[in-house]
Amino acid sequence: MAEDYFKDLQPATLAAHAAGAGDDTTGGVVPGVHMATTFARDATYQPLVGENTYVRYHNENVRIAEALITALEKAGDSLLFPSGMAAVAAVFRTVPNGATVLVQQQIYWGTTQWIRDFCTRREITLVEVEASDLTAFRAACTRHKPTLIWVETPSNPWLRITDIAAVSETAHAAGATLVVDSTAATPVLSQPLSHGADLVMHSATKAMNGHSDVLAGVLSVADRESAVWQAIVTDRNTAGAVLGPMEAWLLTRGLRTLPLRVREMSRNAMAVAEFLADHPKVSTVMYPGLATDPGHDLAARQMTGGFGGLLSFVVQGGAAEALNVAGRLRLFLRATSLGGVESLVEHRHTIEPHTGIPEGLLRLSVGIEDVGDLIADLGQALGQ
Ligand code: PLP
Repeated sequence: MAEDYFKDLQPATLAAHAAGAGDDTTGGVVPGVHMATTFARDATYQPLVGENTYVRYHNENVRIAEALITALEKAGDSLLFPSGMAAVAAVFRTVPNGATVLVQQQIYWGTTQWIRDFCTRREITLVEVEASDLTAFRAACTRHKPTLIWVETPSNPWLRITDIAAVSETAHAAGATLVVDSTAATPVLSQPLSHGADLVMHSATKAMNGHSDVLAGVLSVADRESAVWQAIVTDRNTAGAVLGPMEAWLLTRGLRTLPLRVREMSRNAMAVAEFLADHPKVSTVMYPGLATDPGHDLAARQMTGGFGGLLSFVVQGGAAEALNVAGRLRLFLRATSLGGVESLVEHRHTIEPHTGIPEGLLRLSVGIEDVGDLIADLGQALGQ
């Protein structure tokens, strides 16, 4: 089968060929869009084609995108969801009432907010800990014996790096399932399952799609027979949080250039980080690619081919000055989200004022524009 041949090839080859997906009925070199919601049965009442019965369980575009992500992630299986948050929710719905979960501190605020609310409603004990601090993480694990552990690396917007192999060893010794939100890394820069994680999650809305025009989420698993995965499969298909065919088709198109885009974004982000680190109006730059960053050595071991397009920096002068700088930027669009081909800037303190975010912090999602243009824009906004 074409898919078996493709799975052993390099990510750039796999992605460019969408793991061998084409349109067998027309010979098209890209798959068609399959919009049917239901499928015919033959005279003996068997499904006419394969197992196809109903779109909530079977759609060719969803299957193609999932197969490509499974190959890129070196996973046992993958499932697409209609948003990153729907994928987060699918994982937490497997946790029994009354259990304990351990969640990394200061990760994407939307995840933290939803988990806090969910755990309160389901009487699940929530312990928040800084997972990039292994001593604190291990102590919390021993003390609370969690069922599920959730970490995000690199974290958004602090860019902290968690040691997936070390955290996974501790998690498994405690009998917990380890899930890594790897959105900022993408499967190109990091494969958490290879470091021992049980599940990996992405907001595919970000770099995986890469064009700021699809909302999607994905979970990939190391062991497709595991009880937690079987529960998630059943929940996704019966509760119905399934990605639509058109979004899956667009996502596959975006994924074809993922390695190329991530390489360019990482290169641009590195140059931008170096420029900001030398700028007198900038007090701190958070980017694991910088040799001075506390997560650099670990990121250099754990990530391959770059450090991604996400970075944060703190402007001297607090919120007012950071907002002035953001307001003067012309290429960096003032908008939330990350991972698109176009660069974005966000003042996170405006969005999450009570989470300890420095008032002067600006988060950048660095795109694939000419790096000289990006640096010139930052230079004029900061005032040289
Ligand atoms: N995880 C991370 C790290 C994110 O940055 C986001 C969104 O910004 C999400 C999860 C949620 O994804 P979505 O917006 O696709 O629901």
